[in-house]
Amino acid sequence: MNRLNEYLRKFPKIQLILQDEDVKKLIDKYSYNAVKDKLEEILSEEKEKIKIKINIKDNAILEDNIFTTEHFAFLLNDYFNNFSFSLKRVINGTGVVVHTNLGRSILPKAAVENVFKISSSYSNLEFNLEEGKRGRRYSHVEILLNRILNCEAAIVVNNNAAAVFMALNTFAAGIKKEVIVSRGELVEIGGSFRIPDIMKASGAQLIEVGTTNKTKINDYELEINENTALLLKVHHSNFKMTGFVHEVNSKELVETGKKYNIPVMEDLGSGSFIKFEKFGLPKEPTAQEVVNAGIDIVTFSGDKLLGGPQAGIIAGKKEYVDLIAKNPLNRAFRIDKMTLAALEAVLFEYLDINNAIKNIPTLRLLSQNISEIKKRGLKLFNKIKKLENIYTILYTFNIIEDFSIVGGGAMPDYEIKTYCLSVTHKFFAAEKLSEIFRGLQIPIIGKIKDGKFLIDLRTVLDDDINDIIGNFIKVSQISN
Ligand SMILES: *Cc1c(COP(=O)(O)O)cnc(C)c1O
Repeated sequence: MNRLNEYLRKFPKIQLILQDEDVKKLIDKYSYNAVKDKLEEILSEEKEKIKIKINIKDNAILEDNIFTTEHFAFLLNDYFNNFSFSLKRVINGTGVVVHTNLGRSILPKAAVENVFKISSSYSNLEFNLEEGKRGRRYSHVEILLNRILNCEAAIVVNNNAAAVFMALNTFAAGIKKEVIVSRGELVEIGGSFRIPDIMKASGAQLIEVGTTNKTKINDYELEINENTALLLKVHHSNFKMTGFVHEVNSKELVETGKKYNIPVMEDLGSGSFIKFEKFGLPKEPTAQEVVNAGIDIVTFSGDKLLGGPQAGIIAGKKEYVDLIAKNPLNRAFRIDKMTLAALEAVLFEYLDINNAIKNIPTLRLLSQNISEIKKRGLKLFNKIKKLENIYTILYTFNIIEDFSIVGGGAMPDYEIKTYCLSVTHKFFAAEKLSEIFRGLQIPIIGKIKDGKFLIDLRTVLDDDINDIIGNFIKVSQISN
């Protein structure tokens, strides 16, 4: 007990810690009270830990450096830099580029800077500077979308689910209105987006045509009657049908829509602006192709293959886009200024395709050369090797070949060659390693294959490398 008191007396006074230069910086940033409260919490936790240690082992030796002001400054810094918020940065080692659970697309730098600029001051969000009166919030991105897609009009809403919902509600809400869709396109995306459910919720009557694997244009024509409000095509997204299949293409649907004077809508899902086949990836229909085919309304996500913020883009013929814009639901689903600021900056990159590929992370991660990925892997591997001691005893690291996937419901089943850092441990199974890495200050989310814990280097950013190393030093403290 005396030893315990002896140790407890060694703790620096709270006022002394609060005068540490590094702690003062935290006070400037997060306020005196926030830092002091946290420090009190940390001090009592540390005292508790010492009590436990001494209880377990009476002659436990405690290092002197845990009683210094520097030590507490370090713990505070650690907390405020990494633990202060629930929503935090993670390192994506899954190899899934558009990972819905990890926040889908990473924004380009220009987009983040624009969000900062627009949201830290007033803006002309809904103000027409020329006329000095109320303006449209969509005007900021509509001009760019017109240029990129060659469409007549465009609006943007909260996400693509909202875009689809609003469009269906605008054209087909009410008992006497029907939407014709191919049975093979009644898709479920992720956990909660089922086209049939969205249609029901929107008030539209769903008319399914064709069979699961085959739909012909004649199947649509047979169902068209005076109640038909819309012909709908939905991109398959997260599943692929092969073999004995047939689906109606956008052009055929457009011709039929014209013949019967019924609007035609296509939900593209991912909505790419670039031809991915250029990078040896499978062909995805581009939004330009769909607009060019004459589809009246096309909807797609902002944060899937487009590589921007969460948003739903509705583009197409002016008469129809205007109708959707007037739907009162538009007020409920409207896009906010931060998203708009990010989206405008992302769309701006697309004015020059080379800029887009260079600056938009989603495009860069998908199109990067396999040798770049390997280089990043070797850089990481060599840095880990320098950590030696603990790692050579308990851990084995290797750079191995594997496959990444695109994610976000695009290019299902397609595997892109990649390199991974494989991590094995003398005693721990892959699941345990996965748990340890998830629990790090900057969590690393990996994948498990053949009993190995893998960190896929396709989705590891250059800036992540040093943080992974910093993290590993902490792993060694956990697992020893
Ligand atoms: C992803 C997807 C949606 C939903 O888009 P969100 O932006 O996630 O709301 C709708 N339709 C299709 C075909 C999709 O792939």
